[in-house]
Amino acid sequence: MNETLVAQDYRQLVEQFGSPLLLLDKAAVRKQYRALAAALPDVRLHYALKPLPHEAVVSVLKEEGACFDLATNGEVDLVRSQGVRPGRCIHTHPIKRDSDIRYALEYGCTVFVYDNPLELEKFLPYKDEVKLLLRVSFPNPETKVDLSKKFGCTPEQALPLLQLAHAKGIKVMGLSFHVGSQVPHARRHVQAIDACREIMEQAWELGLKPWVLDIGGGFPVDYEGGEFDIDGFCAPIREALAKLPATVQKIAEPGRFISAPAMTSVSSVMGKAHRGDKIWYYLDDGLYGSYNGQLYDHVTYPVSTPLARGELHNSVLSGPTCDSVDVIRDGIMLPDLAIGELVVGRVMGAYTWASASTFNFFPKANILILDSSQKGQKMVAVA
Ligand SMILES: *Cc1c(COP(=O)(O)O)cnc(C)c1O
Repeated sequence: MNETLVAQDYRQLVEQFGSPLLLLDKAAVRKQYRALAAALPDVRLHYALKPLPHEAVVSVLKEEGACFDLATNGEVDLVRSQGVRPGRCIHTHPIKRDSDIRYALEYGCTVFVYDNPLELEKFLPYKDEVKLLLRVSFPNPETKVDLSKKFGCTPEQALPLLQLAHAKGIKVMGLSFHVGSQVPHARRHVQAIDACREIMEQAWELGLKPWVLDIGGGFPVDYEGGEFDIDGFCAPIREALAKLPATVQKIAEPGRFISAPAMTSVSSVMGKAHRGDKIWYYLDDGLYGSYNGQLYDHVTYPVSTPLARGELHNSVLSGPTCDSVDVIRDGIMLPDLAIGELVVGRVMGAYTWASASTFNFFPKANILILDSSQKGQKMVAVA
């Protein structure tokens, strides 16, 4: 996006659409999807909507032939509104109300996840319609977002839970796991694949027939803004998957990797003050808005002031709310910024807008859709 959008474009967009903005580049979504699909050629990718549940992302990925990973009724509504066929969707929330199961079934999504006996019970009334994935937990202390703490049975519980489903006449199509988000390397994926392969082999010996392995999400991006070597990252995963029989279907649930590089934040300086030896800038977006991932997602986004020039000063970039925790960066060297000056944040497509609040009544940033692959036509729609 950076090559196509020059600093002056940001100014123009803010003049036209106001501030703060999030610029969503459909070309970046496409590029990320294709890169991961090429790195995992035998794996069917189900985009997890959670990091950026936006119709533009869904429609681009639908065109690309992607599948989708849903977890809530709102996510069901979103894919349905975009005309996604339910057969291309799986519902992966391990904990559901009966009404959630019925909502997804009414749409036509029939694949669900369980990880304990009580959750399995909930499928008894629908046992002729549903196919389940058993989520297994592989705790990962190496990631800041450890998704195996909250969900998943232990590997030891897996076989008994598969047998329990069989005894109740509920079909289990396979195993799934999520080793945590933004993982530093694929080691944990590989360990989990190997462990699941052993569980599946034991299950086959008992006459059970799980035929799917879902390797979850976790695929990382470069939060410095560079190109991430996803092919290199996935090489050990490809090797581990190759040890499974070809008849086993492999699927994944990438979220962050698809959406993170696709959005750029543009916010404006509302006010400034000299406090101590620093210049404080108060922006119209902050930690309660698009930058909330700095709290919840443990990520620091690259920020810049592409239109400002001059000597650098020790500065603070603060959000707009009256809360003192609302500081984006303290001790950043910046040129002197005038009121109205723009601040740009990159790699802000995942776990940003999705989890932003309107605390203090500061509205969430508006998303503008563009397609940087379409020469001469940058702005396509406003959302
Ligand atoms: C959040 C989530 C994902 C996406 O994870 P990323 O790390 O963003 O790729 C996939 N599957 C499930 C079940 C999730 O909860």
